[in-house]
Amino acid sequence: MILFFVFVLGAVIGSFLNVCIVRLPRGESLIRPSSHCPHCNESIKFYDNIPIISYMILRGKCRYCKNRISAQYPVVEALTGLMAIALFMKYGPTVQFLLLFLFSSALLIITFIDLSHQIIPDVISIPGIPCGIGASLLIPTVSWQDSLLGILVGGGLLLFIAVGYKWITDREGMGGGDIKLLAMMGAWLGWKAIPFIILASSLIGILIGGGSGLLLKKSLRAKIPFGPFLAIASLIYIFFGPEIIRWYTTWQ
Ligand SMILES: [Zn+2]
Repeated sequence: MILFFVFVLGAVIGSFLNVCIVRLPRGESLIRPSSHCPHCNESIKFYDNIPIISYMILRGKCRYCKNRISAQYPVVEALTGLMAIALFMKYGPTVQFLLLFLFSSALLIITFIDLSHQIIPDVISIPGIPCGIGASLLIPTVSWQDSLLGILVGGGLLLFIAVGYKWITDREGMGGGDIKLLAMMGAWLGWKAIPFIILASSLIGILIGGGSGLLLKKSLRAKIPFGPFLAIASLIYIFFGPEIIRWYTTWQ
């Protein structure tokens, strides 16, 4: 029963994340105007704005103009709901749960914006860095020293790799957005998370990039952004972090 409630709450927040995903890259206000159909501009009534359910009742079409509604809406709502459940099962009704849900929600917004626009919005990643330091004061598993070092390792290491890569190959490797995102991840998860996130995101990137390389044209392949892989690696770390650290510190 409580898990159902957590899911519903997550899905409702997911519907706000959708607003952020659509409006942040355009620099629009998150509050005004209220939700409206992008095709016919008709404003969406509250009963057509119920997460996931409205999309199914309307069969993915606007009530007024019958144009398709992007499947991204119910997908983000469902993902946010599931994320809330998973975090709640791991951390229970704690401050840590709320903070990590906030952080994961930011990752979800970044992922979907990066997928459709190939940018990581500074308005999330830059304020995300001081928020991460603040969170470390409340999260028992990450100390503020871990957090500060995380910013340095996450931002610095990647900047070093990016500059080195450009110097050697004269090509742009990693974007500045990825570097700021990794600094934010370091702030939230501590410096120990960074080696794992870089390694895991590269592996996921190779797997997905390699798989899609067989299916997609070369021009499309170059457009796969790296931000979503960093986000997936961070989420894995949120759930299995202590086990992962134990594994690679006792390994040698
Ligand atoms: Zn419409």
